Amino acid sequence: MDCIFCKITSGELPATFVAESEHAVAFNDIHPVAPVHVLIVPRVHFTDVAELAVANPEVLADLIQLGVRVAELKSTGSFRLQFNTGAEAGQTVFHAHGHITSRTPRS
Ligand code: 5GP
Ligand code: ZN
Repeated sequence: MDCIFCKITSGELPATFVAESEHAVAFNDIHPVAPVHVLIVPRVHFTDVAELAVANPEVLADLIQLGVRVAELKSTGSFRLQFNTGAEAGQTVFHAHGHITSRTPRS
C-alpha cells in the first residue's frame, strides 16, 4: 500500500520523532501551524480515527496516552488534540492520526 504514514512508522521515510509507545509513534508535522505541532500515528494502518475506534479501542487509548505525554514534554500542558476525519473535514492523509498543537511551548 502506498501510504506515507506507513512508510514513516516503519522507518522507510524519515521524520523527526518526538516519542513512541507500544502501538503508536509521534513526530513533528512537516508544515506546523502552531509552535508545537506533533502528529500521533498508530503503527498499524487504519483509514481514520472512526475506523480505529471501532476496530481497536486499545490502540486508540494508547494513541491518546502518547499524545498527552507529547503535550507534557513539548508544551506547558495546554494543548489541542484534533482528528480530521474525511476529506471534507480536511483529512489529507488517510492513515489515522491526531494533531497535538499548542501555542505555549515548554522553554
Ligand atoms: P490531515 O490534513 O490529514 O489531518 O493531516 C496530515 C498532516 O500530515 C498535515 O498537517 C501535513 O502537514 C502532514 N504531513 C504530510 N506529509 C508529511 C510528511 O511526509 N512528513 C510529516 N512529518 N508530515 C507530513
Ligand atoms: Zn498507512
